[in-house]
Amino acid sequence: MSIAAESAWDTARGQLAEAAAIAGLRPETIKMLSEPQRVLIVNFPVKMDNGKTEFMTGYRVHHNHALGQIQGGTRFHPEETLEDIKALALWMTVKNSLNGLPAGGGKGGVCCDPAVLSRFELERVCRAYIRAIAPLMGSGRDFPGADIGTNAETQSWMLDEWEQIHSMNHEPSAVSGKAVVIGGSQGRAAATGLGVSLAVRETCRVTGRDIKGLRVAIQGFGKVGLWTARILEGYGASIVAVSDVKSGIYREEGLDISGLEEYAGCEQCLAGFPGSAVISNSDLLTCDCDVLIPAAVQGVITGEKAPRVKAKIVVEGANGPTTGAAEDIFRSRGVVVVPDILANGGGTVIAYLERVQGNYNYYWTEEEVHRKYEQMFVRTFDSVYRLAGEKGISLRMAAWVMALRRVEEAMAARGWI
Ligand code: NAD
Repeated sequence: MSIAAESAWDTARGQLAEAAAIAGLRPETIKMLSEPQRVLIVNFPVKMDNGKTEFMTGYRVHHNHALGQIQGGTRFHPEETLEDIKALALWMTVKNSLNGLPAGGGKGGVCCDPAVLSRFELERVCRAYIRAIAPLMGSGRDFPGADIGTNAETQSWMLDEWEQIHSMNHEPSAVSGKAVVIGGSQGRAAATGLGVSLAVRETCRVTGRDIKGLRVAIQGFGKVGLWTARILEGYGASIVAVSDVKSGIYREEGLDISGLEEYAGCEQCLAGFPGSAVISNSDLLTCDCDVLIPAAVQGVITGEKAPRVKAKIVVEGANGPTTGAAEDIFRSRGVVVVPDILANGGGTVIAYLERVQGNYNYYWTEEEVHRKYEQMFVRTFDSVYRLAGEKGISLRMAAWVMALRRVEEAMAARGWI
């Protein structure tokens, strides 16, 4: 198998095998975690604005629910595959466990490109998808959230469809990431970017670096990348490069993020932002910077790319951006990798806080939500960092070992193993 051919599922299962060996997991645990507990593949019709019907394929995967009801996002992407969704679901099991949540891991997706759908077509896709996966959903079963291509608006349509199917007027604990006015959590939009930024801040703290003036490159300027850029700029870091699916830009002296947001909103692209040079998505990964934050899609840092990455710290905003081959190269080069399950857990932790608020119908302020998350993040980061130091293992392996032990304990408590 060539390095470039490593799929997300290969990467995730490689991480599982390595961490399971370090953690000394029982063979039955490894066997159970090597495949999802449930996989639902759905094909459903969607009426397009031109009157024609298109058939779309979607998935919902429940990887493991030993720790509680399933939590994990929904991805709308034209190249979605079941294998990718299975990998993302496995990562959710370990992420939810690492963060101490009473939640199992799952993921869903629809093969479609929201960029070419009208707003009404997108709404019809959301509603049709929810009708199709309804047998796996609901409070106590599954709490689907947002991911690539989905947002507060799509989540609100999905919740509304769920409530209509079940003749409910209000069941906020059925879908996460919805609009605040119908039961979403304050502070959810910034959640994942906040976690990624805290990961950069805490890594600077433990490695004795100053975050002020730190040069950061971010691949992906969507929900995660944009909030990360805003927050890190607020911490005093300098964002030297960003990219979206079309292209990227670089400015050695740092980009003005609010000016860039305004520009990108008007021009619908990043290229041409005054004072910056255009670079490709791929070149962003090897540009001159101190910290690299992949915050777009999985598998972008390959074994071929890793030797040329100049950053000394990689903080994973995306799920699974670093292949196993790249990870080995980073280890040998002493590049610190803050893994996805630690760095990008803000979304799922605040989704859990959204579930708690929905169950009580009692809502906290943004400041309260972010304070709770920051305390949880720093505690988890310190535990992972300590275990990595004690065992002489990477932060990724330390995070996985902590997470897998908790999942195994829950499986044993249920009598599954
Ligand atoms: P988004 O759809 O809001 O933004 C995705 C960004 O990546 C956009 O700028 C898009 O142009 C770019 N992009 C898409 N395909 C690309 C490609 N092939 N190459 C380069 N860039 C590409 O999605 P998001 O919610 O910001 O998610 C980004 C990543 O973060 C994903 O890996 C997702 O799984 C992960 N993540 C998201 C959350 C969340 O709360 N949204 C939580 C945890 C992890």
